[in-house]
Amino acid sequence: MKQSTLAIHGCMPERGDTPYTPSAPALEMAASFHYRRAADMTAVANGEMEGFVYQRYGNPTAAALQRQVAALEGGDSALACSSGMAALHIALLTALRDRPASILTAEVLFGETFQLLQLMEQQEVMTRYADPCDIEAFEAALAQSDTGCILVETASNPLVRVTPLDSICTMAKRHGVPVVVDATFTTPVLSRPFDVGADILMHSATKYLAGHADVLGGVTVCRAAHADWMQELGRHLGPNLGPFHSFLTMRGIKTLPIRMEEHSRNALHVAQVLEAHPRVEVVHYPGLDSHPDKAVAGRLFSRGPDGDTLYGGMVSFEIRDADKAAVFRFANALRLVIRATSLGDVHSLMTHPATTTHKNIGEKRRAQLGIGDNLVRISVGIEDPEDIAADLVQALEQM
Ligand SMILES: *Cc1c(COP(=O)(O)O)cnc(C)c1O
Repeated sequence: MKQSTLAIHGCMPERGDTPYTPSAPALEMAASFHYRRAADMTAVANGEMEGFVYQRYGNPTAAALQRQVAALEGGDSALACSSGMAALHIALLTALRDRPASILTAEVLFGETFQLLQLMEQQEVMTRYADPCDIEAFEAALAQSDTGCILVETASNPLVRVTPLDSICTMAKRHGVPVVVDATFTTPVLSRPFDVGADILMHSATKYLAGHADVLGGVTVCRAAHADWMQELGRHLGPNLGPFHSFLTMRGIKTLPIRMEEHSRNALHVAQVLEAHPRVEVVHYPGLDSHPDKAVAGRLFSRGPDGDTLYGGMVSFEIRDADKAAVFRFANALRLVIRATSLGDVHSLMTHPATTTHKNIGEKRRAQLGIGDNLVRISVGIEDPEDIAADLVQALEQM
């Protein structure tokens, strides 16, 4: 079945013994479940019988979300977590079981991911950095020393570099190293990491999956070989997503495929308008001919109903000769696009990476990575594309 079908039917309740079945999953708030027969409860707790005992061990609403995301990703097991960071932590701990305590990852990562990796260094899990878009350099780093797992993002933040995930996974297989993927930017609508050989993936469900700025959540998905350990970590560490947020996330995911088509169409329009504007120095969007990864995205990303590749909703651009004060003037002149952190919502929003998401990495390193003070990141929403572009243009002309 196709993604648009799975998004809707992946969480449909199964038919029970009653003549009727609800058409939407139940919001089951109970923290614990009691049994008529004590032996049944023990059997469920021991994993010998299907059922629920206690919310940290699983909940029917979260279970429905997990089914839905696993179906969309073509994965074997999913764990809904209380944030994207919790999902990423679980993903890394799952991958590192019985492996050397070291992670090879990209030089440009979501800001908080750096912080998590630094915390893990205190527990002797060492991190090395290389550029996954430079396959030879990445393989050289991989060959250099024992690597426990590889961590890559499907597309980077904020320059939207597209990771050649197929090549990375082929290389990783050759070295026997599991690959963990942060698929937040692309969602299962644009790409399915398991199809090209990834082992474990995660999403910040806060972003596109839930999509309406009302959920903090994450989901980790893995292949069968890692499923037992991932679920066991979930039970012991307690990162679980509560029923209400699971419910909202499922509701969001039903429209994820059509939202991603709109985000992609709108973002391409916005990127083209910005690229033509004299105050804009460069636009970073993989749908533009000027982007270094257009071909990689064309190879890896899905196509929409009209046959065009979907490049996603994230666009960043550099304002010509703008310092921080000028970028703030631009930001303050916006009337429709809101100034906020987060991304992937139905509404358009802008962030200034140098002072928010990437402020912790230091000015010099930021400049090396191409994240200057004049860089603006836009998460393009699903409002009318002309309205979004017009707002950005009027703010550029007022700043
Ligand atoms: C937001 C985000 C995260 C963290 O997710 P939270 O839900 O905020 O914990 C991780 N990776 C990427 C790429 C993100 O955008």
